[in-house]
Amino acid sequence: MTLEGLHTALKDKTTLVARAAAFAKRAHQDQKRKLNNEPYFVHCQATAENLASWNLDETTIAAGFLHDVAEDTRYTREDIEQEFGKEIAFLVDGVTKLGWVKYRGKKEQADDLRKFMLSMAEDLRVVFIKLADRLHNMRTLHALAPIKQKRIAQETIEIYAPLAYRLGMQRLSGELQDAAFPYLYPEEYKWLLKNVKERYEEREKYLAGIAPLVKKALVEANLKPLGVDFRAKRYASLYQKLLRYDMDIDKIHDLVAFRIVLKNVEDCYAALGIIHKLWPPLPGRIKDYIAMPKPNGYRSLHTTVLCVDHRIVEFQIRTQEMHDEAENGIAAHWAYEQSKWTRSGKKDAPIADLNEVAWVSQLRSWQKQFNGPEDFIDSLKIDFFRDRIFVITPAGEVVDLPRGATPVDFAYQIHSEIGDQCVGARVNGKIVPLSTQLRSNDIVEIITQKNKKPSSSWLEFVVSSAAKHHIRSSLKRTEAGKGSLLDERPKQVEFNITARDRIGVLKNVSAIISRSHVSIVSVNSSVSSIQGVHFHIIRVKCDTDDKNKIWKLMLKLKGLPEVKEINYRFV
Ligand code: MN
Repeated sequence: MTLEGLHTALKDKTTLVARAAAFAKRAHQDQKRKLNNEPYFVHCQATAENLASWNLDETTIAAGFLHDVAEDTRYTREDIEQEFGKEIAFLVDGVTKLGWVKYRGKKEQADDLRKFMLSMAEDLRVVFIKLADRLHNMRTLHALAPIKQKRIAQETIEIYAPLAYRLGMQRLSGELQDAAFPYLYPEEYKWLLKNVKERYEEREKYLAGIAPLVKKALVEANLKPLGVDFRAKRYASLYQKLLRYDMDIDKIHDLVAFRIVLKNVEDCYAALGIIHKLWPPLPGRIKDYIAMPKPNGYRSLHTTVLCVDHRIVEFQIRTQEMHDEAENGIAAHWAYEQSKWTRSGKKDAPIADLNEVAWVSQLRSWQKQFNGPEDFIDSLKIDFFRDRIFVITPAGEVVDLPRGATPVDFAYQIHSEIGDQCVGARVNGKIVPLSTQLRSNDIVEIITQKNKKPSSSWLEFVVSSAAKHHIRSSLKRTEAGKGSLLDERPKQVEFNITARDRIGVLKNVSAIISRSHVSIVSVNSSVSSIQGVHFHIIRVKCDTDDKNKIWKLMLKLKGLPEVKEINYRFV
């Protein structure tokens, strides 16, 4: 259902969405939104409209209207079920539960996030509704008290924007980041407005002059572009990029980028050739994300050319489907699936299951290839969602493991003794080899044998540092001196911190790190000063490769008031 479709359907009182809207209006009738004293229903409507703008189905949109009913009014889940059936009641209930997950920037967070992830795997539509809800809340954040603004903006940046990104919903992810940015970085935002706005306008004017040339060349080659336009880079991502380029706007070539949408993949490659015939490409700047999609599934051809007046311009070339997926990610995929089902005339709507959506499994297989720690530099936020799986013990407990983890990793995670004595494993009731890679939601049971010793061959497939560590030390105890595997030097991690104040940060950083029992190997710092704003870039090398420890450290370090940006890499 499109946004227009929603507005048409609302005029007919008998449609599902109109009934849901009426119910929500009645349920919330005496409530005002705390933040701006508007009738509460405005928020319900906006949430539903966001869902419609992602072309989601009417069941999801109806649940969007009702998403706060069970939480905030005298009506219960049962009332919703009676009126609208099990499915909608289930979705509303899911959103209500997600609302309980609060980001506190503390240790308990991991646990909450796990629940968050599981409910996500249960039915993605719940997550879509939550994101639609958050988007509207962010758009109206200005009316809240500053302290609340900051907390909600922080939560949006840390949890919701990465989540949207992970689901491939780039437009939403960018929008959430942009909405949060001014509240978290007010000074930087002012700086950007002052310094970038004119550049944007001037750049757009320049590209508007190029567009007819591009169209003409494409049409002459018998390619029918479905769209030729340009888009400005978002403030939040521009800022991230500026930090990497010494805050020098002239070094950023995709400030405003061209976007060409074509019928099929062949046309995309043909168009790339035509652009290169018009203007020479810059070496090393042609990126084929069609043949090699990005980890979050993003597909497109990118090239940067030396354009008219010797100015550098980035082009992004893609099909309509790639474009929709790039904008709306898994929601777009879900919408496609839904329309296929509707056309096929089957009654039951499919449930969006992470494991069943081909697009996601493709995405996952790509992520695996990026798992090598050596070349992978990333911040915790995305890393956390990308690299973890959640499996379940026979007793129903959730165990958090790195992606690629095997039953042996699982066993050591439960207890080192269970790991050492592990002889076999049952996954979802079936006996499997110990090297089997586990997947989220697997139920894993370990078969143990007294006095069994770990095998050095396990080191070839385990991925968690806990398992590696225990296997090595257990082997050391039993076969002292044997095997060079045991003498491997521990890996080091380097934190890269952008901060306001050097002295305060150094003190706080080293306190946090030593409290976590990680030893610091070296500290370097340099200063960069941009338009009167000073930033300290501090590099702290530490002696650990324990990802668990590292991301806990990242959370703590990020909580420091002086810290503006932080990421890490293995060295
Ligand atoms: Mn809400």
